[in-house]
Amino acid sequence: MSVPNIRIPFNKPFLTGNELHYIEQAVKTGKISGNGIFTQKCHHFFESKYGFKKCLLTTSCTDALEMAAILLNIQPGDEVIMPSYTFVSTANAFVLRGAKIVFVDSRQDHPGMDENKVEELITSKTKAIVVVHYAGVACDMDIIMDIASRNQLFVVEDAAQAIDSYYKGKALGSIGHLAAFSFHETKNIQCGEGGMLVINDPQFEKRAEIIWEKGTNRSAFFRGEIDKYGWVDIGSSFLPSEVTAAFLWAQLENLDEIQLKRNKIWNEYFLQLSSENGERFFRLPIIPEYACNNAHMFYLVFEKSADREICIQNLKANGILSVFHYLSLHRSSFYKNLNNSKNELSHSDFYSDCLLRLPLYFQLNPDEVRFITSIIKKH
Ligand SMILES: *Cc1c(COP(=O)(O)O)cnc(C)c1O
Repeated sequence: MSVPNIRIPFNKPFLTGNELHYIEQAVKTGKISGNGIFTQKCHHFFESKYGFKKCLLTTSCTDALEMAAILLNIQPGDEVIMPSYTFVSTANAFVLRGAKIVFVDSRQDHPGMDENKVEELITSKTKAIVVVHYAGVACDMDIIMDIASRNQLFVVEDAAQAIDSYYKGKALGSIGHLAAFSFHETKNIQCGEGGMLVINDPQFEKRAEIIWEKGTNRSAFFRGEIDKYGWVDIGSSFLPSEVTAAFLWAQLENLDEIQLKRNKIWNEYFLQLSSENGERFFRLPIIPEYACNNAHMFYLVFEKSADREICIQNLKANGILSVFHYLSLHRSSFYKNLNNSKNELSHSDFYSDCLLRLPLYFQLNPDEVRFITSIIKKH
């Protein structure tokens, strides 16, 4: 989408300065395909910093979710519970295996899924719960993990937005049986297109590597564990090249600095917009006490979609691009055709109509944030 006269875009990918340097190094090693030195550096970084059991870089979060669906052995007719207010890939990865998607509503106070409405959706066909940590803010994982263990279900964390975020001190992505991260250029840490599958349940470790390597036991072969490799399972080409991993490594080296800066920007938004100037016609984001803020996103929730539209137009007239977010998946044409579904998810629909995301990227400075908030408050 090209909008004339936009001076403050919604997102600007941030470069740390070392990306090309590491890419050159990767190219000069002569092994540019996947699972080389930089891939292993990235895996090790995540495993040691966040306590993830095993990490596999993927070419996207979408791919990581598809790997999760294969690993859980999702079969046609199996049911998977997830929020409707999420990105297409959360559901699509499981639809590809033939699953029926059962949507749960968002919370009243937060766009994340309502943990207390999950249990009533479980049937004898339910196989898994996919939680989405919306805006990088944790779902209440104690509730989810308790439901899952009592009903013998698997939990996948769609942690696409949730790098460097915690639930009661535990890193998001380390709690579910599996988790998927995104390093798309719109996320906090990025490599253009990229992602990662986290395997916390050891029973999936071996098979994950095989699925990752086109259904072959090539990884075990390169470690010298077997003397020839072959086709042993289904799989695909899920691993990124060393060029991608080298780019990502340059970002990881600066993760703390990136997070510090993003949090500063987020806090400036919060400070400026909480100072009451006349009547408030929007809500600010809520971070529950068990969660933490990784400053992935700053959003406003308007009372009416008409108010949101006025705000978008006012910002645009001042050269600022703000954008709304998901159209609830249960209202998508694909899902409606597939399921002839009439279920109402009123909170999810409400956030589709009334939530607005503001520009948030490393290079945004405090003056620009104050300029943006002054326009919002002038309404
Ligand atoms: C960004 C995102 C994805 C998709 O990530 P890709 O790396 O682009 O495949 C999936 N789920 C959620 C919640 C996201 O925000």
